[in-house]
Formats: sequence, C-alpha cells, structure tokens
Amino acid sequence: MLRIEIEPEAKTRIRRQLLAWYDLSQRNLPWRRSRDPYAIWVSEIMLQQTRVAVVVDRYQAFMTRFPTLVSLALATEQEVLALWSGLGYYRRARMLHKAAQFVAANREGNLPTTADELRLLPGIGNYTAAAIASIAHGEPIPVVDGNVERVLCRLQGWEAVGRSGAAALRHKVDSVATQILDPKRPGDFNQALMELGATVCGPRNPQCLVCPLSPDCITRGEHKTQARPRMLSKEISYALAVRTGKLPGFTNREVLLEQRPDSNTVMPGMWQLPVLREAAVPESELRMTVRHAIMQVNYYVRIRTVFEDDIPVLTTTEGRRCWVPLINAAGMALTGLTRKVLSRAHLLPVAPLEILTLQAAQDPS
Ligand code: SF4
Repeated sequence: MLRIEIEPEAKTRIRRQLLAWYDLSQRNLPWRRSRDPYAIWVSEIMLQQTRVAVVVDRYQAFMTRFPTLVSLALATEQEVLALWSGLGYYRRARMLHKAAQFVAANREGNLPTTADELRLLPGIGNYTAAAIASIAHGEPIPVVDGNVERVLCRLQGWEAVGRSGAAALRHKVDSVATQILDPKRPGDFNQALMELGATVCGPRNPQCLVCPLSPDCITRGEHKTQARPRMLSKEISYALAVRTGKLPGFTNREVLLEQRPDSNTVMPGMWQLPVLREAAVPESELRMTVRHAIMQVNYYVRIRTVFEDDIPVLTTTEGRRCWVPLINAAGMALTGLTRKVLSRAHLLPVAPLEILTLQAAQDPS
C-alpha cells in the first residue's frame, strides 16, 4: 500500500481541532443518542446513498417498529420493505433483514464486536463493519465514505480521478484516514469527519473560513470535484384505479395495486400502480404529473384515472394484482413513487409514517 506520512504535530492538531468542532457543532440526530450496535447498523445502512433529512423520520419509524435485532429478524420481508418505502435502494432493506435473521439464528441475536468479525456477516461490508465497531465499541478503525474521501483528498491536495486511478487514490486516502484517526475517540472522530464532509466541506462551495481543518488543508476550496454523471430522462405513465369496496367509511374504497415480480432486478416484491400501455395521456384524462428520481434516472410520470372496466385494455400486466382497501395501502411495501402519488391524491388515510409504526404491513391476498 502507498503510504503518505502525516507529521505528528499535524495529526495532533487535526484530532484536537476536529473533535472540538464536532463537540460544539454536530447535528442533533437520533442515532447519535445511541451506542447500541443494532441502532448504529440500521442508521448506517439507511444513510448509504440517502440524505440525512430523508432518513431521520424513517429511522425513527423503523426503530419504533423494530426496536431490537430480534424483532427485525422475526418480521416478514413485506413488513420490512413497507418501513423502507420511500428510502429507495430496497436491496439494502432485504440484506439488513437477512443479516438480522442470520444473527438471530446463529449468534443468539448478538452482533459481533470487532470489524473483522462483522465483515463476515452477510450484507455487512468494510464501511458498515468499521462504523459499527468504532462507534459502538471504540475500535480504532477508520470509516471512509464518499464525504470522508472528499475531505481527505482536499486536505492533501489530491484531485478526484477517473475510474482507472480510483484504487490507487483509495489506498492513499485509507492510509491518511488510518494515521489521523484519534485512538482515544475513534467513533466520534469518524463521525466528525463524515459530519464535516456533509456540512462544511460539501461537494460544491466548501466553507473553508469556518473549517476546523483549514490550517492543515492544502487546497482550501480549490479542489476540483469530478463532474456528476448526467441524469437520464424517462417518461412513464400509471393507471390510478379506485373502486367502491365492501368495508364501511373511508375504507369503503379500494385501489388497484400490482406487485413487481421477484424476477425484476429493480424493486422486486414492491407494490405499484399498474403501468399504462401508452406513455402519452390525453390532457382531459391526466390526473397529475410527478417528477421522481431513481438513481441516475429522472422519471417524468403521468397518472391517469382509469375505470375498472377499462383496466385490461389500457394497462399492461407485469405481476399479480390486487384491489387493496385504502386503509391497508399505507402499511404495504409500496414503491416510493406509488406512495407519493397516493399521498398527493389524498388516498392514504393518515400520514404514511404514522400508520407504518402503528400497523404491521398486511399482505392483501
Ligand atoms: S479547508 Fe475547505 S477544502 Fe479544506 S477541508 Fe476544510 S472546507 Fe474542505
């Protein structure tokens, strides 16, 4: 491994400055109030590729419904996906659930305490293992996510590189992260570096004037970040079909939902509105338009109200379909887009997160 030597005085200064800043400036986030390895694990998985603002409410709902690893292990996959609905990247939820079941079945519900052992569990990679071990158990091991990599590259004056040079750069970043890690407070130090990257040393417009690492930073804002890959655009249209059901009151209405087949690579098992055969929707039939981003694709979505009799003609069938009482829909494993459309159409009876914590998801079949 390439090794970049950091001066002892610089190491001491970086640790002192960064931790002092973190102690004063850290955001008040629910997972920071816990040293429970399970809680840290859930938060770290949720935070991968998802913004903190989106995660906070979902995390609290998830932990209310599944307060322990064993309670998560005992849930059905549909229940777990329902609580994950809207966070995207649903594979994370499936892996978390499977790993919880593995730990419950093979380790009496106790997560290992070291990063080396944690890495052996299904669904826990280097990053998550290091985060749990350092934050929950004080293991002196660095955690390097995208934010930390950016901060350390700027600190050292290294420019972001293309894929070909990524491995070499990563080795150098890991070396620096290992050297500057505070051995007395490794969990706080790791979180401080991630926090700095998220709040002060962001991808654009780093706030170098208030940065605790400014005295040791070579670039101080002059660092070039790689351009983001261009987003693709796609158009898609869905049918919103609602009929009168057999139950009384608000629940006396049902919405037609379709479960994405297990063979789908994206969001298998999740529930969505039926897809219209034609992406174009006549203006007079248009119920709403929604913009929805998934990974590198911007979806421009049209929603058309469809009567029950017209469903076979206007929609294509991809998976099994069910008429679901609206009272049950909010607790199901809906895709984020479907939840968004039903909410905007005022078809979810209460705030989605509220109902998710109150009821277990129900399989409508
Ligand atoms: S001084 Fe500026 S560029 Fe350097 S780490 Fe701080 S915010 Fe980032």
